[in-house]
Amino acid sequence: MSQQFLLATNNQHKIEEVKAILPEINWETPKNFPELNDFSPEETGKNFAENAEIKARAFAAKTGLVTVAEDSGLEVKALNNRPGVYSARWREGSDDDRNQAILKLIEEKPDRTARYVATICVYDPKTDEAHFFKGMVVGQIAMESKGIAGFGYDPIFIPDGYQQTFGELGSEIKHQLSHRKKAFEQFAEWLNERS
Ligand code: IMP
Repeated sequence: MSQQFLLATNNQHKIEEVKAILPEINWETPKNFPELNDFSPEETGKNFAENAEIKARAFAAKTGLVTVAEDSGLEVKALNNRPGVYSARWREGSDDDRNQAILKLIEEKPDRTARYVATICVYDPKTDEAHFFKGMVVGQIAMESKGIAGFGYDPIFIPDGYQQTFGELGSEIKHQLSHRKKAFEQFAEWLNERS
């Protein structure tokens, strides 16, 4: 599996997670391409798959490389699955501001069920083929923000089967269970089947 792929994200946390999940792949990242400096296509899709495809096609068009893009987010049941595709930008401020806002919004809600969803799009500009892989992890929104591991909503997300947030559990456990892990695992299986 030594094929080279461009990982179409500037999110350093995502890059580290993907490299930890699939270290055997030769990942190129945007920082090695001056033409991708600060390149961030507008995510106008209605769902994770559409946004992943927008990003994969845009980064591939700039570089000519087979590109893997991922779009992900948190869906909170009591908020009609919001923030969903808007997870990174539904509210101004820091990750902690967004975490505190979610805690406040569901303060009175008895059902704190939530899930992380990730969809990957692999796009080959030479064949114009796109393939999609999806992963999710179900859990609960914590009563308060706890822990410093990971990023984004990790300090308020408790995966099913655990009592602590991803922020407390740390990367080793997160990489065994996460939405990203599940989606990239399917991608790896697909690659193995093709080789
Ligand atoms: P994207 O870069 O548009 O895919 O935005 C994904 C956003 O969803 C991130 O900025 C986080 O807010 C949230 N998110 C996705 N995956 C994770 C995760 O593994 N931990 C915490 N937050 C996540």
